[in-house]
Amino acid sequence: MQLSENVKVYPTEYQKNLIKKTMTEYINTVNGLVSDTVSGHSIAKTTTADVSADLPSALKNQCIRDARSIVKKHYKYCHKAVLKNRSLAKHGSPVRVTAPNLPTLRKPCCYINNQNYKIKDNCIEFPVMVSGRSKRISVPVKLTERQKALFSDAKFGTMRIVIKNHVLVAQIVYEVAEPELKSDGNVMGIDLGIKCPAVSYCSDGSVKFYGNGRKNKYMRRHYAYLRKKLQTSKKIKAVKRINDKEQRTMRDIDHKISHDIVKTAVAHNVKVIKLEQLQNIRSATRKSRKNNHSLHTWSFYRLAQFIEYKARLAGIAVEYVNPAHTSQRCPVCGSMHHADDRNYTCECGFHIHRDILGAMNIENSTEFVGNRQTA
Ligand SMILES: [Zn+2]
Repeated sequence: MQLSENVKVYPTEYQKNLIKKTMTEYINTVNGLVSDTVSGHSIAKTTTADVSADLPSALKNQCIRDARSIVKKHYKYCHKAVLKNRSLAKHGSPVRVTAPNLPTLRKPCCYINNQNYKIKDNCIEFPVMVSGRSKRISVPVKLTERQKALFSDAKFGTMRIVIKNHVLVAQIVYEVAEPELKSDGNVMGIDLGIKCPAVSYCSDGSVKFYGNGRKNKYMRRHYAYLRKKLQTSKKIKAVKRINDKEQRTMRDIDHKISHDIVKTAVAHNVKVIKLEQLQNIRSATRKSRKNNHSLHTWSFYRLAQFIEYKARLAGIAVEYVNPAHTSQRCPVCGSMHHADDRNYTCECGFHIHRDILGAMNIENSTEFVGNRQTA
């Protein structure tokens, strides 16, 4: 499985200028190659010798590759538009879709493949142009202990250098071996929600709650309030900063919850984690009048994806089940009821906290719908 890590780089002022120049030259070269191709000049056989750019040949090579994949994607979208228009014409519709615009890279960045960069002694080494010649520079980086452990015997993929929040960041792709999936063990159902971000029910009878729905709700309201205040005073940049901060915070929370879930699953010898198919969680949320609009941005999708990859790294399979009636069906007698405020009580005598019921029914479910989200 390929994962990626963001690494902060600390270039000297001199190095920073070289890197920024390289990034600008990189996107200009890619954009140039793309527009050449579209205006009839094929780059199928283009080699680095044909590319006149002030870039090391390794990066020129990468530019050609990037341009090819951008063009391929562009042609695919154009073709789709043609098919769509053909079908519209066939059905007598006067409407036509317009062909997509040629994509242009705007934000400075550059890609360096794994043969051309090296991480060692808290530095990243890669080539840039220094007065017309390719030269490797060694840029200090700050690796966390976790990243040091990850990188110690990792197989690296492509490195991408970008500017994030005004600082240079290296995004490093690395390959992780996936363990074989466990064949024996317990089953765990996970119910994702807003009040309780996640609840797990394991077939050994254990239950666990994750995250703090009330705190998240408060935080979202707070961010929404800040946004509104800034929007009325037309501070667009500040609004964007607030949005980014909120996204980062929520992402961190999802990382923590998914980490805790998989850790619990490992501790309880779980072989498969079951989740509800997501699209339906969303629509169910939308229908509920209690959940107000500001909460819909909560990303079930992302949380499920985090659970998915972390589970796979632990040798645990993930299955999605049909979410119909998981919060209503009695797991003992099968009849349907709505839970009252906190408790779910069935006339057969079964009763349980309403937030646990969903996870229990998901754990029990035989209505398998897939190993991937369709949302
Ligand atoms: Zn019952």
